[in-house]
Amino acid sequence: MADVIYVVGHKSPDTDTICSAIGYAEFKNKLEGNNLHKPARAGELNKETKFALDKFGVKEPELVKNFGGKRVILIDHSETKQMPDGCDKADIIEVIDHHKIGDIQTTRPILFHAEPLGSTSTIVADFYFNHKIILTKSIAGLLLSSILSDTVIFKSPTTTKKDEEMAKRLAEVAGVDAYRYGMELKKAKSSIKGLRDEDVIFADFKDFDMFGKKVGIGQIEVVDPGEALQRKEKILKKMTGLLTEKGYHAVFLMVTDILKEGTDLWAVGEELAEIEKRVGKLFEKNSMHIDGMMSRKKELVPILMEAYK
Ligand code: MN
Ligand code: MN
Repeated sequence: MADVIYVVGHKSPDTDTICSAIGYAEFKNKLEGNNLHKPARAGELNKETKFALDKFGVKEPELVKNFGGKRVILIDHSETKQMPDGCDKADIIEVIDHHKIGDIQTTRPILFHAEPLGSTSTIVADFYFNHKIILTKSIAGLLLSSILSDTVIFKSPTTTKKDEEMAKRLAEVAGVDAYRYGMELKKAKSSIKGLRDEDVIFADFKDFDMFGKKVGIGQIEVVDPGEALQRKEKILKKMTGLLTEKGYHAVFLMVTDILKEGTDLWAVGEELAEIEKRVGKLFEKNSMHIDGMMSRKKELVPILMEAYK
């Protein structure tokens, strides 16, 4: 099929990137009455995403290693650093996102839809309801999974009223209790048992360009922080290795306790004192606890941007 349009989210796919891609591809196909849109992924799925796909009986999207020369709709990101390989040589025809506007450039006008909401799937769900496109139980379940994942079951400060409204409607269609299902979903993701140290760091990892400085931030959401603490030294060692191997200015791992609502911020690299100044706390053994911090995007990144200015 020469005309296929891939709907794809960012590298190191998370639940929102995968499920909103599946949901949006189906939405476009139904809206336009064609079968041209195909969800794709640019990497391995995490445990949480697998759990959601299993739960609602949907198979994982096709793995595409290089999008060069292909037509793509980018979902859940608009930063070139987060784009799957080859997207710089792809024909980008749409962007649907809920992050700050990134640095993606196109050669012609495109549909660019960004809203400051808790997840891309909130936008996609809204499209379905607005256009009165029939939402299947499984797509509703996947979109709900995304919202629960990105908003950490509505606890993240990125959560908006619209996220909660859409989640409620989606839960009805999917036939699940949103909160109870959210806990199941988070438990599926939170255990780091069986993960290698580097997999813990890269399970949900994003690169940022902060004033020319390359900064990497991983995040794990845990129900039992003890599991991570036991492995702290070894994981920090791997993180330190990344500084020279991959040229990072600093590497962070957010160990976020979703039940107690707070983050243990593990850090290696340059200018950590600048961060201490901003937070008003000192790193001890490369970590500091920040009460209430849940969101990388909304809480940690702004602090780092200030620190690295
Ligand atoms: Mn995402
Ligand atoms: Mn998202």
